[in-house]
Amino acid sequence: AEDEVYCIGCGAKIQTTDKNQLGYTPQSALDKGLEKGEVYCQRCFRLRHYNDIAPVSLTDDDFLRLLSQIRDDDALIVYVVDMFDFNGSMIPGIHRFVGDNPVLLVGNKEDIFPKSLKRNKMKEWLKQQANLQGIRPLDVLLTSAKNLDEIEILLNTIEKYRKNRNAYVVGVTNVGKSTLINQIIRLNNGTQDLITTSRFPGTTLDKIEIPFEDGKMLIDTPGIVHEDQMAHVLTGKDLKYVSPQKTIKPSTFQLDDQQTLFFGGLGRFDYISGHGAVITYFENNLMIHRTKLSNAENFYTKHVGELLTPPDKEGLEKLPELQRHEFHLDEKSDVVIEGLGWITVPGHSTIAIWAPRGISTVVRRPLV
Ligand code: GDP
Repeated sequence: AEDEVYCIGCGAKIQTTDKNQLGYTPQSALDKGLEKGEVYCQRCFRLRHYNDIAPVSLTDDDFLRLLSQIRDDDALIVYVVDMFDFNGSMIPGIHRFVGDNPVLLVGNKEDIFPKSLKRNKMKEWLKQQANLQGIRPLDVLLTSAKNLDEIEILLNTIEKYRKNRNAYVVGVTNVGKSTLINQIIRLNNGTQDLITTSRFPGTTLDKIEIPFEDGKMLIDTPGIVHEDQMAHVLTGKDLKYVSPQKTIKPSTFQLDDQQTLFFGGLGRFDYISGHGAVITYFENNLMIHRTKLSNAENFYTKHVGELLTPPDKEGLEKLPELQRHEFHLDEKSDVVIEGLGWITVPGHSTIAIWAPRGISTVVRRPLV
């Protein structure tokens, strides 16, 4: 009965003989699909389990073509960023391809931030950062792709601003965009033919389309690779270790001047002048070591990859060297290593923050 089966993703007739033709699915997958009552062709299956889609580089011709398509469509842009790695989430030049389209800015991974941090301050900060990039979002929404209730709020917000238009979801890799899309698909689960897949016209890039009730689409675009991210300087194993899956528990250190904190072997904080309580926000299992500043260099050389992990031995080979950034802080501030964590430091302090080359460090007003 093979000729009667159609892919519930794209509608192609399922066949098991020609890998390169539409509707191909391996026999074993077809059997499994028939059992479950939902058969996908291999291509749609991969789209659905989205991680198989290759990310694109910012200069990829296909990607540039895709951007001009987005600019030419009268649509809502849903711009997903990682609250824990704002600079690493930036799409350079986003204001150019957004054109006149309205932007809903979505700050994902909100669950990582302790409840003591003010949500409206987080939003305000996100808005400011967006303005620096030349975009003025209609609205800013904090969300967590891990929480279905929040996805529902996200969908309602998209609906509110969409006004009978398509909505494009854009974001760089690792911001949690596929987790979000998969959750949206899960929420829609009553409807069988919920994704239709195709390529962006004139490109080799795959898209996922989830229909709205008015026939317009929520369109997921490919993730864009942004080199300046922890994901690109760490091995998969080390990345997993430093990426918070749960709410961060802050730690307080009473520091004097000329003291140093190491965050595994991936970051370093020197208190050059000033003193008082600094509060650290990092993955709860990441080891924080205190040394004297005068001894810090030796300590690092001797222990990185062993006592100071991550990186482990293998990760150390991949890791760019730590670079030093010095700041004088008049006021109490957060000193951020993007994608790794941050430290709240008292005012009247001079500090140095060290991060792997390529990883941004930022000073911002505390979020408390
Ligand atoms: P994509 O490359 O943008 O599609 O990102 P993924 O969906 O693959 O997610 C990247 C990493 O972030 C994975 O380890 C996810 O588990 C994690 N992640 C995604 N969304 C969230 C979130 O809302 N909270 C937390 N804590 N982690 C998230």
